[in-house]
Amino acid sequence: YSTESATAQANREGEFAPVPSAPVTRFSELSQLGVNPQLVAALTRGMGYDAMTEVQSMAINPALKGTDMVAQAKTGTGKTLAFLVPIFQRVLVDQPELADRRVRRRASSQDIRAIILSPTRELAEQIGVEARKLANNTGIVVQTAVGGTRKRESLFKMWREGCDVLVATPGRLNDLLSDTEAKVAAPNLQAFVLDEADRMLDVGFSDEIRSIQEMLPSRAEKERQTLLFSATIPRDVVHLAKSMVRPDNFEFVQTIK
Ligand code: ADP
Ligand code: MG
Repeated sequence: YSTESATAQANREGEFAPVPSAPVTRFSELSQLGVNPQLVAALTRGMGYDAMTEVQSMAINPALKGTDMVAQAKTGTGKTLAFLVPIFQRVLVDQPELADRRVRRRASSQDIRAIILSPTRELAEQIGVEARKLANNTGIVVQTAVGGTRKRESLFKMWREGCDVLVATPGRLNDLLSDTEAKVAAPNLQAFVLDEADRMLDVGFSDEIRSIQEMLPSRAEKERQTLLFSATIPRDVVHLAKSMVRPDNFEFVQTIK
């Protein structure tokens, strides 16, 4: 038998990573928070990032703990990684086998663990590109579903390759979820991100967002995390946020710069 205590063993295996007292400001420091080494390597060596932006430094740590979040930071301040890092980590904690890029499994459109909603095709595609770079050393499959492309084509891709993280525009996601033939469902959804929430409402997507929320599994069954990111927080975004986040488990992150 082993004389090593369970705590010492867990510590050695990195399960009880020490929490640093100072806020994290560099991507390399995420290892100390227990973030998967493949993700840290993708951020630092793969993508070449070093210092975090303000919103990343403020949002990533609390979001890693699973709280809901409303975060406001100007355009161009790196909000994409502020939500991608915590949701990818969440996916890997729940499915450690996905940390291996050579993992083989039966693809299923029911795999979806995280959904990111973006107001435009272009923004959704950009998020998809960044998400695939972050997934590079892992077996996490990222798919995008946007308007203006053939629905069948993106469906076949999801059926063939699977889909752990889906980046979508509200119109197309609404369409996929309500199409029973498409067999797109997210019974294991762990994270729901609404990006550029102010633009989303400006474009008039509030009905689609409501309809999508109704079609997603009820969050009481799965401990689902909701993250809302926006450049500005006008009154309609406040209302939307209040209807989405858990009032007893959320953080409001606001950056000055
Ligand atoms: P936002 O969503 O806030 O408008 P993005 O997430 O699109 O901003 O990021 C804007 C640009 O900044 C992107 O080109 C991205 O690669 C880059 N970027 C993000 N985070 C960092 C960082 N920590 N260091 C350097 N560049 C970054
Ligand atoms: Mg953005």
